[in-house]
Amino acid sequence: MESKEQLIRQLISAIGDDPNRPGILETPNRVVRSWSELFRGYEEEVDLKWFEDSADEMVIVRDIEFFSTCEHHMLPFFGTADVGYIPNGAVIGLSKIARLVDNKARQFQIQERLARDIGNSLQNASTEHPPLGVAVVLRGQHLCMKARGVKQQNAIMETNYLTGVFKEDNSAKQEFLNR
Ligand code: ZN
Repeated sequence: MESKEQLIRQLISAIGDDPNRPGILETPNRVVRSWSELFRGYEEEVDLKWFEDSADEMVIVRDIEFFSTCEHHMLPFFGTADVGYIPNGAVIGLSKIARLVDNKARQFQIQERLARDIGNSLQNASTEHPPLGVAVVLRGQHLCMKARGVKQQNAIMETNYLTGVFKEDNSAKQEFLNR
């Protein structure tokens, strides 16, 4: 199996440039290093630890930035996530929610599945005190829409994923969606 760097050199040739050109010579190495950051979600696990607590009101973390890669075009998509849940005898640290969003984003994704992966991970992380419901809203800008295809510069894609009471109880859903 060829190394990632060799493969990127071949790719540069196939695109039509010279991988030995001085400006490009170090590019394969830089790309491999940037990929290890963009795709670190494959290697990392986020420890979603819950703490027993009697809080029972909706918790919302807003405007968590995410950077992801569209699995159809290998182009970036990025934006913000709002994540809410209703505690059921336990709460989770806010930084864990941000890390979960980051972890699931740093893999090949489509935005619909990213919302679902975040929601299901949070819903299923605690066997003792699973939250009564989880709500995820993502707003993303996609380079595969901006730079190619329909060339829509300002289109923002919004995807939602709801579990538990957010799905079943309209008032909880409305409270979250009107956040
Ligand atoms: Zn795409």
